[in-house]
Parts: sequence; structure tokens; C-alpha cells
Amino acid sequence: MKKYAIAVHGGAGTILRSSMTPEKELAYRGGLEAAINAAEVVLKSGGSSLDAVEAAIRQLEDNPYFNAGKGAVFTHEGKHEMDASLMNGKDLMAGAVAGAQNIKNPITLARTIMEKSEHVFLAGPGAMAFAKQQRMEFMPDAYFFEQLRYDQLQQALKSNTVVMDHTLPQDKKFGTVGAVALDVHGNLAAGTSTGGMTNKKNGRVGDTPVIGAGTYANNATCAISCTGHGEFFIRSVVAYDISCLMEYKGYTLKQACDLVVHQKLVKLGGEGGLIALDANGNIEMPFNSEGMYRASLRQDDKMYVDIYKD
Ligand code: ASP
Repeated sequence: MKKYAIAVHGGAGTILRSSMTPEKELAYRGGLEAAINAAEVVLKSGGSSLDAVEAAIRQLEDNPYFNAGKGAVFTHEGKHEMDASLMNGKDLMAGAVAGAQNIKNPITLARTIMEKSEHVFLAGPGAMAFAKQQRMEFMPDAYFFEQLRYDQLQQALKSNTVVMDHTLPQDKKFGTVGAVALDVHGNLAAGTSTGGMTNKKNGRVGDTPVIGAGTYANNATCAISCTGHGEFFIRSVVAYDISCLMEYKGYTLKQACDLVVHQKLVKLGGEGGLIALDANGNIEMPFNSEGMYRASLRQDDKMYVDIYKD
């Protein structure tokens, strides 16, 4: 029996102590803790890492503080188009959805695509038709309306920019959510869910649902979930690159994460971070931005929750 481990993130970016209120900080920390707790319930009773990842991400999707599910940001047209994916390290099965609309928990749709369709990745109207057929939970537009997100869109429209979650430079952050887990059977899993970027073009797809870019899991190496400027993460194939460095070059998880996040991404101009977990329960949570909402827990250990760099 292995010792279980779990890590979650709620997005990276310019998250500064000076722009945080105690109430907001408490809410973010509480959200991360709730996600870890939801995953631990599953792992403690011998459940799978895949179930744990889905449980953690559903918690974060239901929390309006994070840019996924209920808190998803607005597109240029004032809509919500959500992306999500998850992967099972045991058999390399994966499921992904792009451009999901009115779906309460896109991560569950991604899992249903993995388990109930013969495909890995569904997008747009076809994905929605499949979701209806599978009786996924739909919510009205009003459920996804958050005043803060709407104000962000108005600002982005004014400046004609496509922006990360928060538009104010001192409060710029990526609010995507993700989870990685190792269960007592030694299986790894990873998942990621997002509303993407405020004022993004209709049809824009980020790294989140792209297997190998925003999400990857393989029992032989690691489980990864990313957050950051998606275009750079796609071009760098971030999650798979870390796995490959371990598999082909014998890098440790830390060495692989350091090279990809602090050197390769930085060189390209890609801001963001990721959570990573290997089959021995080692956890890395590197980011090259000011901060990243993150939390982790190893069996029999104390929970770690942090937001800032130091
Ligand atoms: N990676 C996400 C995207 O580009 C954004 C984020 O991490 O917040 O869609």
C-alpha cells in the first residue's frame, strides 16, 4: 500500500499581499482546503486518484472565487465557454471538453467523455449534445453571472485586451483550477478546469483541455495540472515535457519542473505555474508568477496551503 497524496491549485498570477483583504484570503484558503478535504475523503477510504481529482475540482468549480464552473470569466460576447480535462495515470485514459456552456461541472463532463464515448476530446455544440444525451447537470446563465467577472469584461472591452481573470495589473491572476492525486494503490491522476481568459474570442481554446499541455498523468512518471497563459503552455507542451524529462532523461520531478517552469517557459515569455506529483508521493508546485493559489496534503501529514511566493 502506498501513502496517498494530493495537491490542488486555484490559479497563478500577480497575486500580491498588498491587494488582498483578510476576508478574501480566508475565502481562497477555505476553498483550497475544502477541495483537499473532498479528495481526502475519497483517498482515505481506498478510492481512486481519478475520483479524488474529480471530487476536488468539483468543489473548486462550485466556488465563485475561482475561474472555473460557477466563477468562470466572460468571453468577448459575454458568454461562458469552459474547458476541462482529466487523465488516469494507470491506463493513460483521458477525457477533455472545450467550449462547454451552462455545464455545472465541466470536469465531470470530461470524465463522462472519457468513460462513455469512444473519443478523448469533444468541443462546442457536439460536446453539448453529448452532455444532454448523458443527462449532465445544466445551469441557467444566471448561475454563472458574477458581477466581478462582468466588470472585468467591461474593462477588457474598453482596453480591447484579452486578459487573465483579473484585469487590474496589480491583481492580475489566472484562476483556473486543478488537482493531482496519488491513491493507496499507487495510481496517479490529474485534472484541470477553467473559464479561460476574459474577453477571449468565441471558440478560443487554452491549454487546460489539451492533454499533454495543461494536463497529463502517467504512473511511470508523474501527474501534472497547469495554470497560466494558455497559448504559451500549449506551445511548450508543458505537462508532457515534464513527464518526458523524467522518462527519457531520468530527471527527478523537481529537476523537470524547474527546467520547464523557470527556464523554458520564462524564455518564451509564458507566465504561470503548475502542480506536480510523482509515484513516490513527491509534490512540486512551481510558478514563475507572483503567486499561485495552492494546497497539498500527504497521508499522515499536515495540510499545506499558500498563495504567495514567500
Ligand atoms: N490556462 C488557462 C487558459 O489559458 C488560464 C488560467 O490558467 O487561468 O485558458
